[in-house]
Amino acid sequence: MPKIIIDGTEFEADEGVTVLQVIRANGIKIPTICYHEALKPIGACNLCGVEVRGRAGKPRVLLSCILKARNGLEVKTRSELVTSARKSAFRNLLAMAPQSKFIRDLAVEYGVDLGPAPDGCLRCRLCIRVCSEIGGGGALKREKRDGITFVVPREGLCIGCGTCSNICPTGAIRMIDEDGVRVISIRDEVIGVHVMERCEACGRYFASQKFIKHVQVRTSEHNNVKEHHLYCPTCVKLFSTRVKSSSRMKRLG
Ligand code: SF4
Repeated sequence: MPKIIIDGTEFEADEGVTVLQVIRANGIKIPTICYHEALKPIGACNLCGVEVRGRAGKPRVLLSCILKARNGLEVKTRSELVTSARKSAFRNLLAMAPQSKFIRDLAVEYGVDLGPAPDGCLRCRLCIRVCSEIGGGGALKREKRDGITFVVPREGLCIGCGTCSNICPTGAIRMIDEDGVRVISIRDEVIGVHVMERCEACGRYFASQKFIKHVQVRTSEHNNVKEHHLYCPTCVKLFSTRVKSSSRMKRLG
């Protein structure tokens, strides 16, 4: 019966088993994803690497799920080399499934820091710029958290226009209109919650009350302001078409 040394302790192994099987049979923790007892191992996830000494005595990492346990073999499941190989394996997996909570949780369990979860934001700052240059709210800013820059809300400044959500190329800023309330958010942070106004013509909710007020204030000084109305964009178009065509008919008549 072959004997192998794992982390300095000698274990007996059945003939033909893998190092991973010996590791697991003896209650030693090691991460795996692609391994399944009922299936042949293929070494796809690369998480089960262990340190072994090569022929020249140089340490290297081999996958324990496919490495056969042979007499006298010495392996380490914990070493700098193993940690670094495990980290890069976790990173490769995460590149293929960046939103996977399962991979992140497994990495945390094994003390591997993969940094913050991606939030879908490209840091293009279109949202910040449109909010301050056009929308007028100035409700978004950049903020460093643990050395990483995030787009975050400025409390109380959002007017609920939705321009940031419309301009965002990745959908990282969400706008949800439900039962007359508009919620703008990024990650799990709320940028603004707004009561919406109904269109006077069709009755649909179409804009936040705060935005309508903002527009009224911004345009009040304009010398060509017409009577304020509360029409949604569709009804505005509809009515302006009617106005245009009726005045054209008058001119033709
Ligand atoms: S919805 Fe709020 S944060 Fe977004 S552009 Fe408008 S005012 Fe700025």
